[in-house]
Amino acid sequence: MWIDPLSRRLFRGAGKIPASEGRGPIVLMYHSIEADGKRPSNIWSIPVKNFKEQLQLLRTRGWHTARVSDLERAEKLPLRTVVITFDDGYANNFENGFELLLEQGMCATWFIVTRDIGKRSGWTDPKLPGWTILSKTQLRQMAAAGMEIGAHTRTHSHLPELDPPTIRDEVLGSRKDLEDILGLPVTSFAYPYGQYNQDGITAVRKAGYRVACSTRTGWFGSDPDLLQVRRIAVFSHDSLATFARKLAFADNEVGWWKMAKYAARRVRSRLFDKRFLGTNN
Ligand SMILES: [Zn+2]
Repeated sequence: MWIDPLSRRLFRGAGKIPASEGRGPIVLMYHSIEADGKRPSNIWSIPVKNFKEQLQLLRTRGWHTARVSDLERAEKLPLRTVVITFDDGYANNFENGFELLLEQGMCATWFIVTRDIGKRSGWTDPKLPGWTILSKTQLRQMAAAGMEIGAHTRTHSHLPELDPPTIRDEVLGSRKDLEDILGLPVTSFAYPYGQYNQDGITAVRKAGYRVACSTRTGWFGSDPDLLQVRRIAVFSHDSLATFARKLAFADNEVGWWKMAKYAARRVRSRLFDKRFLGTNN
């Protein structure tokens, strides 16, 4: 589990500023988790080995996990809190996600496309290997173990392209589908493709959701809008060092060029501080 010294240092300082001061929890977004030895078919499908290392890093460095619905009380969450989310509900998340989290004493939230529960996903590229969606039994088991199950529409639709009755069917319908399966209230939602407009936000609120996740990046507390929660994506090509820097910067883009610009800004602000102090003394 090697991480270069700079990324290690940046990660050590991460998660120490609360939501009330503009930072707070970081919400991570995952999709498919591939079994050992299987090559990820795209950037959204990460090897289970990487996922295990990421969980281990979080656990050994004192990070806490929370669920999306806990963001309603973000000010009560401890420092170094991460909210792990999985979009779509791929069946490989059961063994390679849910069971691993359970072993580590961690929790997460899943956003499920309800039409395809227990079947092959109907919206993904047919040329890609078949990805099936978690079954009803698996979803019940996950909810019973303390994981949160949220909705991600019925058909993984592009919400801004739909008329109001269809938006309502996708948003409210997926909530009802899950509540029928789980026998529990479903209060969290994620916009498919991260796409939404004001009509989408209104439909989500009217359908009774309390929290909805977008794909805008940043710390939760940088703009604590519960119906447009910011998230950081974890990709198949992320190294453990990149993952650590993502938690330090709450951004998807944490390449070395960006790090160099950050370092230059720090140097500039220190110089400015010295000059400022000099003129006042
Ligand atoms: Zn999705």
